Amino acid sequence: MNVYLGLDVGGTKVAVGVVTGAGEVLSTLRQDTAACRSGGDPLREIIHLGRAALAQVDGAALEGVGIALPGPVNRDGITMRAAPTIPELQEVSLRGPLTTAFGVPAAGDNDANACALAEARFGAGRGGRLVAYITLSTGIGGGIVGEGRVLRGVTGAAGEFGHQVLLPAGGPPCDCGNTGCLEALASGRGIARRAALAFAAEPAPGGPDHGQWTAERVAERARGGDMRARDVWSETALYLGLGISNIINLFDPDIIILGGGVAVGAADLLHDPIREVVRTRCMPSLVRTVEIRIAELRGHTGVVGAACLAMEMQHL
Ligand SMILES: [Zn+2]
Repeated sequence: MNVYLGLDVGGTKVAVGVVTGAGEVLSTLRQDTAACRSGGDPLREIIHLGRAALAQVDGAALEGVGIALPGPVNRDGITMRAAPTIPELQEVSLRGPLTTAFGVPAAGDNDANACALAEARFGAGRGGRLVAYITLSTGIGGGIVGEGRVLRGVTGAAGEFGHQVLLPAGGPPCDCGNTGCLEALASGRGIARRAALAFAAEPAPGGPDHGQWTAERVAERARGGDMRARDVWSETALYLGLGISNIINLFDPDIIILGGGVAVGAADLLHDPIREVVRTRCMPSLVRTVEIRIAELRGHTGVVGAACLAMEMQHL
């Protein structure tokens, strides 16, 4: 059976899997990134995991290997330009070692583009012509997939939806160095920051020892009827709705997919309010043809996405 190997390298875990051309996951293995790094050669460990996953599938004919990486990637050499969570791989070209180790062509990209491909091909974007994928978790990332291929831009950074500026002045600082970005306002961290302001008069949840607001805790409060928590989510939906309206006006997609832990976990609080914002703030001629959907692939998105990078390369 023809298969692809997906290597999903994250800041906290490494997941690998054998995936068919139809997106079916035949075997997976995972390990903590810290454990992969402990021997001093994380790439060797990742290759070892990949071989072990392949060995679990009888009669696998490997077509290609794809690797999804946490951060900006130079795709020519499959090189991470910055890798704070796995510094051993920074500025190391992975193309040669992966091609040699598995005897097939290798492809690599950042994890947001990989997940965008996975959702566009096999998840909520199936059948779409132009799919914009937004991932909402600690930060906000994204990717644009047209006719089955990622739109990458000149330097590979297209689709950084989190860094569109929504507030011209007075907005919170963003990791990119700007202020008032969508990510600073509506990511998991942005939600926690606004919740801390909204609830400034009372102790943080969980007591002084682990007293930190998180998107999850604000969601629990909102579902319990707390109006301040509901306001935090309404404001989040407003920012996301504005950001998505911009994306629709710029790209005219037929499907927008909201993925990532925060978006999926709080879909009940976000989905309808976002649609309402988009309905009123987007160009009317465009909003009629676009659907906003919650991501469908769950635990294996990164692995399937990494495998999709190899499939995408094959169809160049
Ligand atoms: Zn930013």
